[in-house]
Amino acid sequence: MSATMTDTMTAAVFRGAHDVQIEARPIPVPGPGEVLLRVTASGICGTDSAEWASGPHLAGRDLSGEPRDTVLGHEFVGTVVDRGEGVEGFPVGATAVCGAGVSCGHCVMCRAGRTNVCRTYHSLGLQDDGGLAQYTVAPVGILFDATDSGLSSDTLALSQPLAVAVHAVRRSGLHAGQDAVVIGAGGIGGFLAYVAAATGARVLVLDLDPSRLDLATRLGASDTALASDAPLGDVIARLGYEPEVFFEVSGSAQGLASIFDVAAPGAVIVPVGLQKKRTELDLSRFTLAEFTLVGTVAHVVADDLPEAVRLLAARADGWSDIASEVLPLDLLVERGLQPLADGSPTQIKTLVDPWIDVPRPADHASTPSATDPNTAEALS
Ligand SMILES: [Zn+2]
Ligand SMILES: [Zn+2]
Repeated sequence: MSATMTDTMTAAVFRGAHDVQIEARPIPVPGPGEVLLRVTASGICGTDSAEWASGPHLAGRDLSGEPRDTVLGHEFVGTVVDRGEGVEGFPVGATAVCGAGVSCGHCVMCRAGRTNVCRTYHSLGLQDDGGLAQYTVAPVGILFDATDSGLSSDTLALSQPLAVAVHAVRRSGLHAGQDAVVIGAGGIGGFLAYVAAATGARVLVLDLDPSRLDLATRLGASDTALASDAPLGDVIARLGYEPEVFFEVSGSAQGLASIFDVAAPGAVIVPVGLQKKRTELDLSRFTLAEFTLVGTVAHVVADDLPEAVRLLAARADGWSDIASEVLPLDLLVERGLQPLADGSPTQIKTLVDPWIDVPRPADHASTPSATDPNTAEALS
């Protein structure tokens, strides 16, 4: 297709706290190095609900801090329908998963392959327009071609948040044969348990919510415990764990402090959840026990996004227990952002399909792709 100035689409536009409007916007035109995607599924997370509840935080202003309306959506997949100048790969019709974070490619961190801490890092759906819309443009450098993955759009829409978990686990160095502890099993915590277990490590997950612990078990956790039942050290001792890696996903100061108290010398501690304020920690213990404290943010498109797609395909039962229903844009606030902000989401992940008018069941069936080399070989 070729977009003209008169073509419009429906998009979720963020203007400030409690002000997300579903409205007509011009279909964007891909610039050099960009493609136009017809969005097929788009997820939301706590970042979006925080913008809606109390923003603007990251959304609603451009890189220089000037206010701007922003189309939300940083977890999405779409079909390539138009290509800007100089685009290699990504033919029209390709299925593209978006990594969302845009990096410059030449600063000191980009040169080191750490594009997620690029000096000018910014994200579609926050500082720039994103995928809670029928169409969006994205630079191909932040896309992964998932045409041959055999996964549905609803499943592929989980790629970006799963890549965030892949990144956290990669940063930790966790590997098979080690024990890990994950504190907090909602959203990213569940994905983190899944990725940690996929390394072959033994994973213990703690949460205050029994249903989240059930989910962690289905995602591969070896053991779970109610965080309110017993002190962390007692749980670890009772289950016979020797954790070398701790992930604090809940963002609770108490959770992080308890890890500092119970971790054995040499432990790697990864605060994944954002601490809401300055936290007092026993740093003499940090020194003497030779802890490694590891930061983690977003993900590295080139390394973490392909691995996320691979791990999505590796779960034989599909992902209906994570995201069972897909919403139309008109229900984004009422059934998506608001319940998430209130802490009462009805699903682990909320997905949106910008082309539907009423909710539909999510489709997580995987199909062998006709362009999959193995399938093509079998057919020829
Ligand atoms: Zn997100
Ligand atoms: Zn850079």
